[in-house]
Amino acid sequence: MDFALELAEEILESRRPVTRERLEKVYDKLYGQAEKVMGKYNPCQVKHGPGGTTCAAYHSDRPGSHMAKLNSLCCTGCKHHDPSGGCRAEKPLACKTWLCPAIPKPAPLHQRLWALSRRAQKAKLAHFRSDKPSSIEAALQAWNKEQQMAQEELRFIEARILAKQLLE
Ligand code: SF4
Ligand code: SF4
Repeated sequence: MDFALELAEEILESRRPVTRERLEKVYDKLYGQAEKVMGKYNPCQVKHGPGGTTCAAYHSDRPGSHMAKLNSLCCTGCKHHDPSGGCRAEKPLACKTWLCPAIPKPAPLHQRLWALSRRAQKAKLAHFRSDKPSSIEAALQAWNKEQQMAQEELRFIEARILAKQLLE
């Protein structure tokens, strides 16, 4: 078999159908790990009080803390944000693996979150200000599109090989 065709089939092979169940499993696993990391380090220290909500960035002088200083956190404007109770989204994975620049960088915390964020991005599951159902839906659409493109690519390679054989 032609090397290019073999390669194309390998590519397709590695992109076996991505199902909702598979994505949900990966999503829950990554979210659970992110929750553990955030729970262990608690970098944001979000506090809800009568005067509003504050977080670590509110007391920080580091660049990037200006938004939180306005007493609005990084969730400002998000449809899932409840000013009196915090985030109302179901498992917002991308948000859970992100930290604003106002948080000083203790290596293990950032390294762990970065690794989880990279894995979420690779699985096309990282969508900011998005809950689990919307993130899964967006990931499914992105995977379907990618698979369609891979199949078109394979058909194109097959056609080129056939044309080449006919001309020989
Ligand atoms: S990421 Fe930054 S702005 Fe957002 S809650 Fe944490 S400390 Fe506050
Ligand atoms: S979805 Fe993200 S940005 Fe929105 S409230 Fe929840 S944590 Fe904040």
